[in-house]
Formats: sequence, structure tokens, C-alpha cells
Amino acid sequence: MNILTFGPNGSGKGTQGALVKKKYNLDHIESGAIFRQHIGGGTELGKKAKEYIDRGDLVPDDITIPMVLETLKGAGPNGWLLDGFPRNMVQAEKLYDALKAANIKLDYVIEILLPREVAKNRIMGRRLCKNDNNHPNNIFIDAIKPNGDVCRVCGGALSARADDQDEAAIGKRHDIYYNTVDGTLAAAYFYKDLAAKGQTKYIELNGEGSIDSIKETLLSQLD
Ligand code: AMP
Repeated sequence: MNILTFGPNGSGKGTQGALVKKKYNLDHIESGAIFRQHIGGGTELGKKAKEYIDRGDLVPDDITIPMVLETLKGAGPNGWLLDGFPRNMVQAEKLYDALKAANIKLDYVIEILLPREVAKNRIMGRRLCKNDNNHPNNIFIDAIKPNGDVCRVCGGALSARADDQDEAAIGKRHDIYYNTVDGTLAAAYFYKDLAAKGQTKYIELNGEGSIDSIKETLLSQLD
């Protein structure tokens, strides 16, 4: 099974992707994570990509596209879940061409819908527990509101990640995501059009639901 996922930063795309990946034993291919590996390993590609990533810009297509397509070629037999790519129209078209040329079926495209203002609040509301990063705490999500100013799970002290409080950086990322002309939503709609022609299946999820309800809706729509 091969799946593309779309959703703004703050939509829970990573969480849902991890659940689907686990259930179907897929390779989780995240373009951002591949870049971070290259940067950590000090590769030439990592050095080139770092300056763009540090500024919050997209890494140029001539670096990103071959890197992701190469990684897809090495995916395991159960298929892949691609996260963070395509981020623009050019990437969407190149991926389409590459899959077609290799006769690879794209089974599902998942879009998690979330209004921009809600996505921003979710990022700014995230709090980290000093005892465990996986303890969910968010001052803007009712289901996981902290207990006063301490962790709702263990009572540990909470803090906010500096980059989660950077409104300009969040705005820049969301400008790219919510761009329906040639940005990430344009890429998503490119695949939505293909689904209308029967070439793939497009699943839209309301990102304002709880993690569990989104998960249930999603899994009920995957074969
Ligand atoms: P992410 O972890 O998905 O937020 O990605 C971290 C950073 O890697 C992004 O802010 C971009 O600079 C870069 N990046 C990830 N995926 C792509 C992509 N498909 N195209 C261009 N740049 C990307």
C-alpha cells in the first residue's frame, strides 16, 4: 500500500501517519527526517540543505526531488507512507511522473484539514513535560489541557519549545502549506483531481477531531 499524507504543521499528520504506518507495516518516508539525517551525517547534501532549512525555506527542488525519489526506490515490499513531500506543484508533478514511469500505484492520498488559525494555536499551545516528551499537553486542545501549569499525565513541570513560539516562522511554513496556487495545497489538489478521475483515492479528515476519532475515521476508509 502506498500513501501520501498532507496536513499543516499542527494538524496531527505525524501522529496519524505513525499509526497507519504501524498497522500496515509501511516504510515511513519523511523528507524532513531524511534532510536531518544528512545534516547529522555531515554529507554534502546536508550542508547544502541546512541553510534553507535554518531559514524556514523549502530546500530547492533539484536537491529534494531526486533525494526523495531515490529513497522511494529503496522502500520495502509492503509499500510506503510519504510525509512532507510533495510540498509544491513541481514536486507533485515529478512524483506523479516517477510513479507512472515505474508503474507504481498510489493507493491513497490523505489530507488532514485544519483552519490556519487553529493550526497556529495548536503549535503555540504545545507544552513539553520535563519527565516525558510523549506526555500530551496543549493549552489550546481541551482533551489534553495541562493540569493548571503542570503535566496532565504525571504532574511534571512544563515548558514550551522556542521554535513553537516563533510566530514569524510558523507563518512562513503555513504560507507555503496553505498556498493553493503552487504550494502544498495546490499539490494536494493535484492528487484530488486524479482521484476524481479514478487514479487514486483521496481521503479528507477533519483535523479538529480528537486523535482517536480521526484515527477511527481514517482506518475505516483504508482497505
Ligand atoms: P519537516 O520536518 O517536514 O517540517 O521539514 C523540515 C524542513 O526540511 C522544511 O522546513 C524544509 O526546509 C525541508 N523540507 C522538508 N521536506 C521538503 C520538501 N518536500 N521540499 C523542500 N523542502 C523540504
